[in-house]
Amino acid sequence: MPGLLAPLPYALDALEPVISAETLEVHHGRHHRGYVDRLNAAILGTDLEHAPLENIVRRAARGRTTARRAAIFNNAAQAWNHGFYWQSLRPRTGEGPSGELAVRISRDFGNHDAFATAFKAAAAGVFGSGWAWLVAERGKLRIVTTANGDTPITRDAHPLLTVDVWEHAYYLDYRERRATYVEGVVDHLLDWDFAADNLRESERDYVPAPAHGGVHA
Ligand code: FE
Repeated sequence: MPGLLAPLPYALDALEPVISAETLEVHHGRHHRGYVDRLNAAILGTDLEHAPLENIVRRAARGRTTARRAAIFNNAAQAWNHGFYWQSLRPRTGEGPSGELAVRISRDFGNHDAFATAFKAAAAGVFGSGWAWLVAERGKLRIVTTANGDTPITRDAHPLLTVDVWEHAYYLDYRERRATYVEGVVDHLLDWDFAADNLRESERDYVPAPAHGGVHA
């Protein structure tokens, strides 16, 4: 049901000092709420009105041919991306990935430090507004970035974590220093338990290709 703005999964000051309560209040209470409100207005009376948010994002992505359809996609995708972003963060714990997720990060990036360095560079390097993502794609972990409201769920990729790099995510706290915000988030706030849950979910959907390119009679 896209009509509701879900509450944050933690208190407004839970992510301090990396992300201030003021930033969370504006980001969730105004920006995220704005996407939800504009989406609800755009789908009122259409066949999307009662569809799950993910379905709206996927269907609208295929039909961005008119200004109205583009507005539905942009607001639906941003509503979904923000919900996923809030879940990607948690109060500072000092804990990194563990178990199968840690094994996969080492396999696909070398080690956790190499992953963190590459992820920070990707997030800091997004030109303009967008998102950095850790995704599982065809059995492999990858770092991808998207512009504006674009989201990996419209492709064959399963997001594990995301970081919002729109200016509204960090400007009150860091002004133009996006890289400092990204470093704080990656080093202290990522919810690796959420990522591990998403990895397990992605594995349920993924069927590896045959190792030798097919069946031989
Ligand atoms: Fe945002």
